[in-house]
Amino acid sequence: MPAETTQATVLKFGGTSVEDAAAFERVVGIVRSRGGPHPVLVVSAMSRVTDALFQSVDDGAAHGLEPHFERHRDVARRLVRGDAARGFLDELERAREGVVQLVARARDDAGARAEIPVLGGYIGASRSGSTTTLGRGGSDYTAALVGAALGAGEIQIWTDVSGVLTADPRVVRGARTIPSLSYAEAAELAYFGAKVLHPKTTQPAMDRGIPLRICNSRAPDDPGTVVTGAADVWPGTVKAIAHKTGITVLQISSARMLGAYGFLRALFEVFDRHAVPVDVVATSEVSVSLTVEDGGGTGLSAVVADLAALGEVQVQRRRAVICVVGEGLRTTPGIAARVFETIRDINVSLIAQGASRVNLTFVVDEEHVEGAVARLHAALLERAEAGPGMPASRPIRRAPGREDEAVDPVELARRLIDIPSVSGEEEAMARFLASYLERLGYRVELLEAPAGRPGLVATTGAPPRLVFSTHLDTVPPHFASGEDDEYVYGRGACDAKGILAAQLTAAERLRAEGYTEVGLLFVVDEERGSVGARVANAHPLARECRWLIDGEPTENKLAVGCKGSLRVALRAEGTGGHSAYPERGRSAIHTLLDVLADVRDVAWPRDEYFGETTCNIGVITGGTSANVIAPDARADLHIRLVTDQAPVRRLLERAVGSRTGVEYLSFTPPVRLTAVPGFEQCVVGYTTDVPHLSNWGRPLLLGPGSIHDAHTARERIAKAELERGVELYVRLARTLLAEPAVAAGEKGRGA
Ligand code: ADP
Ligand code: MG
Repeated sequence: MPAETTQATVLKFGGTSVEDAAAFERVVGIVRSRGGPHPVLVVSAMSRVTDALFQSVDDGAAHGLEPHFERHRDVARRLVRGDAARGFLDELERAREGVVQLVARARDDAGARAEIPVLGGYIGASRSGSTTTLGRGGSDYTAALVGAALGAGEIQIWTDVSGVLTADPRVVRGARTIPSLSYAEAAELAYFGAKVLHPKTTQPAMDRGIPLRICNSRAPDDPGTVVTGAADVWPGTVKAIAHKTGITVLQISSARMLGAYGFLRALFEVFDRHAVPVDVVATSEVSVSLTVEDGGGTGLSAVVADLAALGEVQVQRRRAVICVVGEGLRTTPGIAARVFETIRDINVSLIAQGASRVNLTFVVDEEHVEGAVARLHAALLERAEAGPGMPASRPIRRAPGREDEAVDPVELARRLIDIPSVSGEEEAMARFLASYLERLGYRVELLEAPAGRPGLVATTGAPPRLVFSTHLDTVPPHFASGEDDEYVYGRGACDAKGILAAQLTAAERLRAEGYTEVGLLFVVDEERGSVGARVANAHPLARECRWLIDGEPTENKLAVGCKGSLRVALRAEGTGGHSAYPERGRSAIHTLLDVLADVRDVAWPRDEYFGETTCNIGVITGGTSANVIAPDARADLHIRLVTDQAPVRRLLERAVGSRTGVEYLSFTPPVRLTAVPGFEQCVVGYTTDVPHLSNWGRPLLLGPGSIHDAHTARERIAKAELERGVELYVRLARTLLAEPAVAAGEKGRGA
């Protein structure tokens, strides 16, 4: 929760949360209890005021606003005293003259306490600086923008319902709060009609990884909904249904489309020209169907007129879009069949699936939409056994007949190897594991950041005290699996898919023994920049976890330390010239070679615990041509540290002198890991995700396979080693969980 950070908490109160004096008093209470040390408030207009303003513009008369001015006066009389009240009422009078400014000003004075910034929402500025609005519901977006700009710890949207519900509560009585949503899910729901969030709200929050929380200002203790990069995946289940009425479907048919190109571009240019946004699109060989919102008729008729030049245009008005949302949809075959079976007597005119992995969207006649939503909710969300609204500690239930089906680590390793997951392309691997683990009965959460590269956390439902962790990604290139009697081959066989298979098997064996506090954490990007581990480190489950067993190939020895790493570039500069007259120039390559010779002679520090510092000259580049004196040259060094970086940098800089530039590219300190008696020990020379997973408990490092096979074209792991790895993981976990004090010799998390 934000209370213990120095970050701001942005709280946005919707119109229904500031509708009268009592509501304002509730707001004050909520800011005190939930706003943390640095609350920032964004408030909407009092409920119904924006609508009344629009109406007065339509009517060309402001008298309909009088009751609303009276509501503001009433709030002032009840909550503000003396000079402040007089000031407010004066202000209100002036505001009446400038209706455009009413919303922002009146509110600021009613709700502000001196130390807390209070902003009006909804009003923005165009690129040229003139005042404009962010559209209906735009205060949500204001709050998200402010939150992102401040790097807030959390953005809270306070409204009149307890979070995002499984459907619009005005249409479905039994709609329930969804405890957690991914940014993608929330964005789809908002876009397709869940009015509780402005469609653009998720973008700034997602860009900065800030959690969005939707709460009820009339029931502040209800848990509400939290929207983050992490999402529960419930394969086979839908999380919510949104719908939007007032939709027009346009169908453009033309034989010219057949085998032609440029047609779609011409078509969308029409919408572009008239600034009419398109929501849903489906195409066949000779026609395109798409939906637009009914906004002022003129825009649309101009669009239709232009489209007529491209083909025959049919306009179907009074339609509605229904959008079925859930992160589990993509991994679940048969959802579409269930959806359309449920409403088989209702005419469906346009279907789009797969553009976003989290939704299935289609169009029905407006008059049928409420019935369709209610039936879909009953079929997909009220009978479902697992799904949103279920308590986090839902007990594991295995599918009937699966009890005895043990995971075979060799077979699993091969299946994992056959799914390519080079760094940057881990998604298929993550989704396979998510549904695999879910089928085994785990509760799985995807860690959806960076976008399209999910990692995952799996638990038995109880918060884990120990997690097995490794990475989903491999180095390139991918090559498929193979095996003989002794080995499994393929990219990732030892780094780290064999290890992942061993960890998963171990977790299953422990679970069969009755251990519930064992989790699995698989991250992306270990081979590149550890982005996945950094994201995972912020996960709320981390804090409760005591032990992190990271998996890297250690030949089944418990690594008690990892050397650190320092990456350096040396850049030499020369003066170019004709190679026939070397005395007239100075060669950067010659300089660099001299420097490198001296670097190779450096007596680097040695450490009792970690051993030798090593220095690899990995890349040399430079020069232009054999007959030109090289104007530049560069060497990339990778130093494995056994001490802090300072003495190494001093030695390096002394060896180099002023002959070349020294640029430090990255640094990771050596790490001491937890030792446990009864396991063979080693120190490894490579770096791991361990420093980036510091919140997950005391780190240990163990895994089958040899680092000398990793990253090679003959990557492999011995089957016997894989099985031995499973046994060691099980034994290690039992030891740690049985006797938390057993760990000896470690001094904190770093060295
Ligand atoms: P505020 O004034 O606080 O911004 P809004 O009226 O804009 O509140 O949004 C809240 C309303 O959104 C709820 O009262 C509810 O009627 C409507 N709504 C529509 N779909 C959903 C949904 N899926 N979950 C929650 N509320 C929804
Ligand atoms: Mg709103």
